[in-house]
Amino acid sequence: MSQARIIDGKAIAASVRDEISSRSAALFEASGVRPGLAVVLVGEDPASQVYVRNKDATAAACGFHSVKHTLDADTSEADLLDLIGQLNEDAAIHGILVQLPLPGHIDESKVLRLIKPEKDVDGFHPVNVGLLTAGERDTALVPCTPAGSLVLLKRTLGDTLSGMNAVVIGRSNIVGKPMASLLLQESCTVTIAHSRTKDLPSVVRAADIVVAAVGRPEMVRGDWIKPGATVIDVGINRIPAPERGEGKNRLVGDVAFDEAVGHAGAITPVPGGVGPMTIAMLMANTLTAARRQLGLAEEAALF
Ligand code: NAP
Repeated sequence: MSQARIIDGKAIAASVRDEISSRSAALFEASGVRPGLAVVLVGEDPASQVYVRNKDATAAACGFHSVKHTLDADTSEADLLDLIGQLNEDAAIHGILVQLPLPGHIDESKVLRLIKPEKDVDGFHPVNVGLLTAGERDTALVPCTPAGSLVLLKRTLGDTLSGMNAVVIGRSNIVGKPMASLLLQESCTVTIAHSRTKDLPSVVRAADIVVAAVGRPEMVRGDWIKPGATVIDVGINRIPAPERGEGKNRLVGDVAFDEAVGHAGAITPVPGGVGPMTIAMLMANTLTAARRQLGLAEEAALF
């Protein structure tokens, strides 16, 4: 059995970041404006702290004006809403990202809906969800993980995905649904599978493209994959790895990589696949938001 090509998300993300850095430098030279990103973290969740640090550092490395707001876990909803209001009015800030999850006493949807849609670089505001669903991707801000997954697909299969059978496993607002919308706009025939789907292995076996966004370690087995299919594994799951020492863990995806690599035509690894693309696409969204707010023409699409 032939081995799948491994899709190098790290290298592709680096090439996207390079392109954004040079576009950001050109913008600064032409207008004196740096794309501005504000990242807001409430509380001390260790994983969120790492994500926020990475986003802040990547923004700075891309030549952006990057601002980090770290608020105490007991910050009131009113104070957070007040900060969002200020960032909405700040002309130096083109993108606002509130790191999720928020502490339980804060209404997440109230906070996300207050962000101006044109500054909503996570793409979670109902206006952006609506634009994407209506097929107006070019005026929306698209959620970063599905956008990054589409870049990986196009770098692997070329720009034309038209007519391919795509199965998206998972129907979350963050990944599954926007991924399906993007693939539909690419004229794929899209199936969205979820926890109530009957005979998931058969559904997946019909797919030329499989996107797994489930959150269940190695759930998708190798013999579910149609020979030659392209597999994008969005899942990030931490599992015990006693072979690495007592109490150690390792990351695996939603696809049993070692099995699937013998069936797929191409597959993303975990880590090093979709993960690095998510932050790269956040930078792309911030640059796009800045250009739109400055009234400048859109640049060549990254996907
Ligand atoms: P989520 O909100 O928990 O959604 C999971 C989806 O999987 C749900 O739609 C659920 O179906 C479906 N599902 C659960 N069990 C299933 C089963 N046995 N068969 C078929 N479908 C099943 O998760 P998410 O936020 O979309 O994230 C999914 C994974 O992606 C997680 O591992 C997460 O860590 C990872 N992730 C990675 C990145 C990245 O940057 N790489 C970004 C975001 C998320 P129901 O709707 O029927 O419950």
